[in-house]
Amino acid sequence: MKTHYNQSFDIIIIGAGFTGCALAYQFSKAKAKTLLLESSAPCSGTSAACAGRVQVIESETKEYLKIVKEGFQKIPTLEEELNIDLEWEIPGHLTLLFSEKDLNFYEVKVEQLHSLGLDAEILDPATLQKLEPYIDLNNCIGAVQSVEGHINPFNFCFGYLNSARQHQATILTHQEVIGFEINSQTITAVQTQNNVFYGKTIILATGAWTAHIGNLLNVDIPIRYTKAEALVSEPIRKVLNHHIGTTGFYKSVHGDERSVTLGVGQHHNGSLIISNAITPTNEIARASSDWGLPSISHEFKKFFPHLGPVNVLRTWSAPSPFAKDFLPVVGWLPQFENVYLAAAFHLAIPTIPLFSEKISKHILDGENNIEAIFLESYSPSRFFS
Ligand SMILES: Cc1cc2nc3c(=O)[nH]c(=O)nc-3n(C[C@H](O)[C@H](O)[C@H](O)COP(=O)(O)OP(=O)(O)OC[C@H]3O[C@@H](n4cnc5c(N)ncnc54)[C@H](O)[C@@H]3O)c2cc1C
Repeated sequence: MKTHYNQSFDIIIIGAGFTGCALAYQFSKAKAKTLLLESSAPCSGTSAACAGRVQVIESETKEYLKIVKEGFQKIPTLEEELNIDLEWEIPGHLTLLFSEKDLNFYEVKVEQLHSLGLDAEILDPATLQKLEPYIDLNNCIGAVQSVEGHINPFNFCFGYLNSARQHQATILTHQEVIGFEINSQTITAVQTQNNVFYGKTIILATGAWTAHIGNLLNVDIPIRYTKAEALVSEPIRKVLNHHIGTTGFYKSVHGDERSVTLGVGQHHNGSLIISNAITPTNEIARASSDWGLPSISHEFKKFFPHLGPVNVLRTWSAPSPFAKDFLPVVGWLPQFENVYLAAAFHLAIPTIPLFSEKISKHILDGENNIEAIFLESYSPSRFFS
């Protein structure tokens, strides 16, 4: 027997990761009656796996880079807006280059960054070695040094969540959405195990789980995921001055082969956060695999062979969602009148603050506004003919 929640909402958001919490904040701040439903605890999905990078250079297109730039500039202002210490730092990023092909590709990227007034430069091996004395160059022909920030991802998520609560959003955790009441092409209610909730607009902020929820709606929503594994070490002396990664990081993270790509940064407490072991999969499995930890450690050791033993404190694994063009899926689901998707954000931290603002205006102000035009290229309709 289900309890029918005794109030109706303007907006029901499903999923309390970065996306759902940022949206709950934007809608409640705009005085929309907002409900946020989460099947587990807030920030327990892919957001809990996040390394906290505020990436720039891995932007998929030049258009997207403009969004990333705006989002990057917005992050430090969020500390005041959300009244939280995000632990904002700008360590910068080094992308290691191994071939002329890499070099040519990144020369174009550097130009793109420059054209938007962002810092980036190609470094020769000697300069790279001077900047990062602990690295073993391993046939590296140089690197790209580019702007990149770092924050505490939990503070980011809970900053939004707490601010949403202060703006009177209703936040209910351990409420897995298991069904919908549908009248023609409109969802009239959302069902959990024990409750029924009524709302005008339903937003799926369900990240890697979006295709699963699509099954409840009989729609094949084309968001897939890989299993991504990472680890954190005990605190050690300062050995890194930048976040360092190998090329094609995102192509490998969302590729179709099992792979290991190196991404490593040192937290200001001294811990190294090292990623990524990737397994293509159709099932969400949260346990770390038996090959993930040794493979990541091996890759790290290849570049930092002289550090001596470093103890691993914890490993974790999470589904990493993506659409096949590697761009976010944001907009009305064409099969329904009132279902909106907000998932598969490429470079989540620098883009979600901006997208969440635009999404709330798009939904609350209607179709004929500037946000609708901005969001058009990310619409789910690009996948449905
Ligand atoms: C190892 C790793 C490192 C990463 N590092 C970075 C990084 O440094 N910088 C960066 O920008 N990005 C990074 N990312 C990506 C980033 O973490 C994700 O893009 C982001 O967290 C996605 O947020 P989300 O809110 O869309 O999804 P999620 O955080 O997955 O939130 C979706 C929520 O929906 C809930 N849910 C699902 N189904 C239901 C249901 N039926 N009912 C109710 N609730 C439901 C889930 O429990 C979950 O909490 C990393 C990802 C991984 C895996």
